Amino acid sequence: MIRAKKSLGQNFLTDKNILEKITNITDIKNKLVLEIGPGTGNLTSYIFKKKPQKIFVIEKDNLLAINLKKKFGDQINIINDDVLKLDETNLLEDKAIVFGNLPYNISTEIITKWIINLKDNFWFECLVLMFQKEVADRIIAEFNTSNYGRLSIICNWKLNIKKICDIEPKAFSPKPKIHSSLLLFHPKQNFIKINDPNNLEKVTRVFFNQRRKMLKKPFNQLFNGDKKVLDKLKIDLNLRPQNLNFETYYKLAFEYENLRG
Ligand code: SAM
Repeated sequence: MIRAKKSLGQNFLTDKNILEKITNITDIKNKLVLEIGPGTGNLTSYIFKKKPQKIFVIEKDNLLAINLKKKFGDQINIINDDVLKLDETNLLEDKAIVFGNLPYNISTEIITKWIINLKDNFWFECLVLMFQKEVADRIIAEFNTSNYGRLSIICNWKLNIKKICDIEPKAFSPKPKIHSSLLLFHPKQNFIKINDPNNLEKVTRVFFNQRRKMLKKPFNQLFNGDKKVLDKLKIDLNLRPQNLNFETYYKLAFEYENLRG
């Protein structure tokens, strides 16, 4: 009997219809699959049934990793490690289809790290990821809405995002207190180049630090009131951070990078 550990966000997906639905979102036959946090291997079994070429899984919990080895033997490749500590860009020999019913406490950290670390070559074909609904709502938020912020801007920079469905707590064991949402991410062909993505992090952090205040203060803090940037990007400093669209933030990060040389 496996005891779920709260500290590792262990809520295991048990609803067979949802498990089937997740593995039908994209064709994985003969493809390389990476699963984050396989837990007891429920989703892994459904992935396995679709005959991928290879399955890699990353599981931090030692006991669960041993359990997975017993259950799947050499049919899957188990990496018993912390997904946040691994260099995902060099992990696999080919582009992967990534699945993850992510541990909720670190889900935003995982997706942000992946985007910030992305090189010109994407290491994945697509991502099929489950988040706490509240977090998913922030990821897919449009500008001019209250959920729009750093997470939406960072995630939408290089990825097209589609919501698949919401999932109720009863689909999991133990039942979480929150609802979940499943999102599908595909690499964008075109996006504004920012050499150091940490500049996008910085710009969005400073701008959304006081999301109810006008843009004047964060703009002056980063750009020293540079009028050329204001005119070029046609920014009205009387607006609030949530009123600037995605593109303007990417351009601001680009300008900030240029300014710093
Ligand atoms: N995929 C399984 C399922 O749907 O039934 C389990 C999902 S559960 C929400 C999250 C899983 O991620 C757990 O198995 C947990 O041990 C694992 N996990 C938590 N933190 C992790 C980390 N930093 N690196 C890798 N795995 C982690």
